[in-house]
Amino acid sequence: MDFNDTPEEAEFRAEARAWLEANATPHRDDDEEDLLGERIDDKTLAWCREWQAKKAEGGWACLTWPKEVGGREATPIQNVIWKQELAKYRNPPDIYGIGLGMCGPTILTHGTDEQKQRWIPEMMEGQQIWCQLFSEPSAGSDLAGLRSSAVLDGDDWIVNGQKIWTTGAQFSDWGILVLRSDPNAVKHAGLTYFVVDMHSPGIEIRPITQINRGQGFNEVFFTDVRIPDANRIGAVGDGWRVAITTLMNERASIGGGGGAGNTADLIRAAREIEIDGRPAIENAAVRGKLADFYIRSKGLQFTGNRTLTALSRGQTPGPEASLGKLIGGVMVQDLAEFGIELAGMAGIVHDASNPTTSLWQDRFLAIPGLRIAGGTDEVLRNIIAERVLGLPPEVRLDKGIAFKDVPTGPPSN
Ligand SMILES: Cc1cc2nc3c(=O)[nH]c(=O)nc-3n(C[C@H](O)[C@H](O)[C@H](O)COP(=O)(O)OP(=O)(O)OC[C@H]3O[C@@H](n4cnc5c(N)ncnc54)[C@H](O)[C@@H]3O)c2cc1C
Repeated sequence: MDFNDTPEEAEFRAEARAWLEANATPHRDDDEEDLLGERIDDKTLAWCREWQAKKAEGGWACLTWPKEVGGREATPIQNVIWKQELAKYRNPPDIYGIGLGMCGPTILTHGTDEQKQRWIPEMMEGQQIWCQLFSEPSAGSDLAGLRSSAVLDGDDWIVNGQKIWTTGAQFSDWGILVLRSDPNAVKHAGLTYFVVDMHSPGIEIRPITQINRGQGFNEVFFTDVRIPDANRIGAVGDGWRVAITTLMNERASIGGGGGAGNTADLIRAAREIEIDGRPAIENAAVRGKLADFYIRSKGLQFTGNRTLTALSRGQTPGPEASLGKLIGGVMVQDLAEFGIELAGMAGIVHDASNPTTSLWQDRFLAIPGLRIAGGTDEVLRNIIAERVLGLPPEVRLDKGIAFKDVPTGPPSN
């Protein structure tokens, strides 16, 4: 493992730091944390747009993208360095994360030149917000089981069905959408991938209110929505291959809770909160817990460094990178739980004016979502079991038969 920057990486870091120092806003003590970007009003949207446009102007919007579309052709490790430096500043919620992290790379890989010219520049400059319409009520981990349909009618596809958990649909302009275009084909072969204008007639968006009062995601209903064939990405029936590109980019862009996995906040809280008239940090049980969290966070950090080392050497990180999200997600939840416990009775009342305690409550309520999005704990365990440990794969009942014949429930008597 290499922990230090190579001379080229150090040079790149200095360049990133210089630009951020001149253009970014430092953190404030009263910055609200919104882990899943769930509290977005017009003022926040304007802030997001302004910052994205500034990054695009400075050439820092989409580092790894080709130069001809406005990117920098940066290496994956340079992208990581940029994110490390960027995280030191005050950033708006990541409303462009889905567009730039998943939709853009998919269009760049599978789209036609015309599609790239049509969507990529505006996406990069932050003029358009994108969402991902993949999950359905009966298709999440088993995404290829989706049922929303697309039927060709002249130059348009007629779309019917329901998507769910669509992050940011309520303020998105465009969405990426996978649909079943052929129910007679086997499960993975009957899918086609589209881009949909979220303002099209027949789309109904219903925000879902969550336990933490946020409205991060939505139900999206399609009733006879027309999508021009010109919005199809890839060939008819090749939607699964295109979707895999999106999912690989999603996995790469999701971490283990980012700064929320840092023990510094908890140590600071233990200095501020008192137990029996003394700072909690002097209590032996509290110290034991803090030491335990510190060791776990270091284990995660060093495991993450293996991924960074692979990137730095120009290699592609393997499936073991799934460990970071699995272990990190659990740890961040444990940290938040202990933060609430540490606050004693104050821990059960949400008081936004007291950031020492409200921080832990907000995290505690948001983290279960992070443990599900982009691969649940169990799905990550399956990946580790099958692809890292080489254990036998799961039994599959849907192989080699038409999707319409796949059993969907217990046989009726
Ligand atoms: C915060 C958040 C944001 C999201 N944003 C989006 C979005 O923008 N667009 C979008 O399309 N989707 C989005 N999703 C949906 C997300 O992709 C799905 O929730 C996820 O894929 C899990 O699917 P599911 O909810 O249908 O659960 P299911 O797949 O039905 O899983 C239910 C339970 O069964 C377990 N399970 C499932 N399969 C297996 C298996 N093979 N082996 C063992 N256990 C298994 C799971 O681990 C889980 O505990 C978001 C979800 C969250 C939480």
